[in-house]
Amino acid sequence: MAEETIFSKIIRREIPADVVYQDELVTAFRDISPKAPTHILIVPNVLIPTANDALPAHEQALGRLFTVAAKIARAEGIDEDGYRLIVNCNRHGGQEVYHIHMHLLGGRPLGPMLA
Ligand code: 5GP
Repeated sequence: MAEETIFSKIIRREIPADVVYQDELVTAFRDISPKAPTHILIVPNVLIPTANDALPAHEQALGRLFTVAAKIARAEGIDEDGYRLIVNCNRHGGQEVYHIHMHLLGGRPLGPMLA
């Protein structure tokens, strides 16, 4: 069994977070240390530690990350200018929290990804 992270507590509303969306599959909340005017983390409610752990059984929840990202981007008013979606994996990917999550970043030009 993978070890829970702070994100499981946020999903269960046991610790505070600025939750902007939640349904039966995913939870979205503002990053505590935002790197852009909009910086929201979209997280499956089930614990999947990294992209390496994605299974066919997770496809509905992982697909929901994208549809919820689009919904939130519209609500934040950043859909037309655009935004960036990022999933970090393990050490070289810069992953800090081992509960897979999608970063939704926008509200300013983000520059080239691989500078
Ligand atoms: P990673 O580097 O794993 O892709 O990103 C983890 C993100 O989670 C970071 O951007 C970090 O600021 C955010 N984060 C870490 N702990 C918390 C927390 O307790 N609450 C919130 N809202 N964000 C957190």
